[in-house]
Amino acid sequence: MNWQELLFGDENYFFLVEIAIRSLVMFLFIFLGLRLTGKRAVTQLSIFELLIIIALGSAAGDPMLYREVGILNALVVFTVTFLVYWLLTQLMERSEKIETLLEGKPYYIIREGRASRESLTHKELAMDEFFSTLRAYGIFQLGEVKEGVLETSGNVSVLRFPENEIRQGLPVWPDYLVKKTDHVSQSDIYACTTCGNTQQVNTGEKTRCNYCQQNDEWVKAVK
Ligand SMILES: [Zn+2]
Repeated sequence: MNWQELLFGDENYFFLVEIAIRSLVMFLFIFLGLRLTGKRAVTQLSIFELLIIIALGSAAGDPMLYREVGILNALVVFTVTFLVYWLLTQLMERSEKIETLLEGKPYYIIREGRASRESLTHKELAMDEFFSTLRAYGIFQLGEVKEGVLETSGNVSVLRFPENEIRQGLPVWPDYLVKKTDHVSQSDIYACTTCGNTQQVNTGEKTRCNYCQQNDEWVKAVK
């Protein structure tokens, strides 16, 4: 094994100092650039913003490490990327169509305590993935949720029913969900494990969900 190559690649010791200076300059570029976008913190990114970050990350990293890549090259990439970003955000502010095209639009997952019609046709977010978000909100069952929206940032927003309008629904906690069955032991109101719809299911009958038509597994509805 060639230790010299493993530790320093093709470069000599002095290049390490240059790397330190290059890194410092690129750090300042990135910091200034991100300040210019006006974003305060990066928690959730739209696809469009993620694209910008990837472009900048790649442009910023190479001049830190490679002698062949000059800092000015990176600066050109930065300038162009930010110009495009600025131009597109201006366009998005003026046109809702362009905004939808670039960022997508918020979309209903839950309406009135069960899966929305649109979420049954486009499966953009699996229901069980969504349940973990509901649990984080402290929600016990779907009947508490009036509306659940998947935002373009990937965040989920939840509007609860007022206390007196809460209905029976599908419990979203694992201990309850594992008890699903296609042959119920006792006639009662049950919740469909695919869409959260509640309906009467009778002992011994194999019943198909009359809302999503996709499911015959049930969990006892809770309130
Ligand atoms: Zn269903």
